[in-house]
Amino acid sequence: MSQLRFDPLTGRWVTVAAERATRPADFDPRRLAVETGPDRPCPFCPGHEEDTLPALETYSHDGSWLVRVVPNLYPAFSGSGPLEVAHIGPVFEQAAGVGIHEVLVLAPDHDIGWADLGDKEVGLVMAAIRDRVEDHSRHSVVRYTQTIVNHGREAGASLEHPHGQLLGIPFVPPELEDEQQGFARFAATADAGDHGRCLLCDVVAIEREAKHRVVLDTDRVLVVCPFWSGSPYEMLVMPVGHERHLAEAAPADLVATGRAVRDGLARLRALVGDVSYNIVFHTAPHHDDGAFHWHVHLVPRITSSAGFEQGTGVRINIVAPELAAEQLRVM
Ligand SMILES: [Zn+2]
Ligand SMILES: [Zn+2]
Ligand SMILES: [Zn+2]
Repeated sequence: MSQLRFDPLTGRWVTVAAERATRPADFDPRRLAVETGPDRPCPFCPGHEEDTLPALETYSHDGSWLVRVVPNLYPAFSGSGPLEVAHIGPVFEQAAGVGIHEVLVLAPDHDIGWADLGDKEVGLVMAAIRDRVEDHSRHSVVRYTQTIVNHGREAGASLEHPHGQLLGIPFVPPELEDEQQGFARFAATADAGDHGRCLLCDVVAIEREAKHRVVLDTDRVLVVCPFWSGSPYEMLVMPVGHERHLAEAAPADLVATGRAVRDGLARLRALVGDVSYNIVFHTAPHHDDGAFHWHVHLVPRITSSAGFEQGTGVRINIVAPELAAEQLRVM
């Protein structure tokens, strides 16, 4: 029988319907190729720095760059605002898409992913993310910065070269608002005392105790397949040190989180192959001091969402997270 599980972060129910024995090999590991014109060299490869807008930040070692941040050539958000909403008649409202849209080139090597980054490289990538998020917080029009990595075409990547994006947007998006409400709801209902009554601090403590959904545990970071996983092999990466804002996390926690993301993705690849995935960073909105605990979602794109998910927002997961964690743990 399928099971409904409540996602306390988003306040939504998910369906775990692991009725048939799905094996990792049942998922097609081959990714669709990301289109690249043979006549157009990759703009993110060394030697083609002139093909992008001038870098905002460059992180180098021994004279050559390892991480670059450049403005997106086709920004979804740009301009310094303010956000001005125009009402067009009784129904329609619109505003200019003010904000920031940047590309984070993760490495000079064209053929790798986050799973292949070395310790030093991961540290630089996380330092770059922190620096940019902090920079965004100084722009009054930017309410929230979404950091993402899309790997593979099924996950929305349009270029093969490993890269992420930082989108500084002029409002707090619904997914974040839902999670903020989840933290607030938990703080309001949980018994007073104990360890600060933070939803994710409690999840860390409970999952460490239970063990069977843990994928990996370092002193500083816990990676689990969450109880409320909405898709197969989904992982939640939680820094143990409580901090609302990614940019205020201790440098050692930032680095450890970047490495845990890498190690989680490497286990995923060892288990199901080089599949597409999204890395989603969640941090409190800028200058917001409500309850939150920054974290990272790893979402493999190995099943496609169908009409039911589209129509209801209710996800159906065909691999129980307990089984997923067990398989990922032994990799
Ligand atoms: Zn390249
Ligand atoms: Zn916490
Ligand atoms: Zn989240």
